[in-house]
Amino acid sequence: MEGPTLWGLAIAFAILFTVFRALELFRSRDRRLPIFRKGFLTDGAYWLFTPFVTKAITRICVAGVAIPFAFIVYGKFDRELILQGFGPASRLPLWVQAVGILAVGDFIGYWMHRAFHGRRLWRFHAVHHSSVDLDWLSAVRVHPVNDAVMRVAGTLPVLALGFAPVAVAGIVPVLTLMAILVHANLDWDWGPFRAVIASPRFHRWHHTDEEQARDKNFAGLLPLWDILFGTYYMPKEERPSRFGTMTPVPTGLIGQVVFPFRRQASAVRSQSTAGERPQAAALHHQA
Ligand SMILES: [Zn+2]
Ligand SMILES: [Zn+2]
Repeated sequence: MEGPTLWGLAIAFAILFTVFRALELFRSRDRRLPIFRKGFLTDGAYWLFTPFVTKAITRICVAGVAIPFAFIVYGKFDRELILQGFGPASRLPLWVQAVGILAVGDFIGYWMHRAFHGRRLWRFHAVHHSSVDLDWLSAVRVHPVNDAVMRVAGTLPVLALGFAPVAVAGIVPVLTLMAILVHANLDWDWGPFRAVIASPRFHRWHHTDEEQARDKNFAGLLPLWDILFGTYYMPKEERPSRFGTMTPVPTGLIGQVVFPFRRQASAVRSQSTAGERPQAAALHHQA
């Protein structure tokens, strides 16, 4: 598979920057962000760091589980064999498998995301929540541990069920674009489909620091999981306007990458036994 190139990333940045800037102009003046909004340089650095460094780490981690898995199922490691899946699931039509992979992957993603809002993993995920001026570019601000753990957790069950990963190969760019779009500084919510597919309004509520919306809207793609498990938040009239976290995440990229490893041991140990479940409204502030 072709990896990212500097040119490709520069062109993608220029296109997305222009498109989202233009779309933002349809918002009222007070809801637009300045061109060089807070964290612009940090997120610009992530624009290179995430595809070149984080994704490389994630690929190694995924290989770390896919290779032993291949030896167990096929008796050898053959990338092509893994991509074709095995058993009854692999014989389903490709589009059915694609739906299956997306649903299973998103379900696992929902629970993993909730786990990242828990006490143990929060500091890795707080990096993603540290954007105070939230827009499309904030999507790439993800800690490598956050990315690798999410991807490994999402891939393993899909492989174990026998689905052919090749079924979703074509949609990967669409999913990447979706992840960028849901952070955009827009109020879009897909109208009648607002509860079906994640939208900017849906995910921006997830990023708000407003009390009533904290630890809501965890789904990456299907709000169904939030509806089923009681974390759906989409008030009719209001729009989220304040973003960020109380956790003192540094503002630069290197500081953010190191941040979760510099544990404030005493502060954490003195906390009560808050579990992994993020129902406590103030979990963000405990980590
Ligand atoms: Zn989150
Ligand atoms: Zn986000």
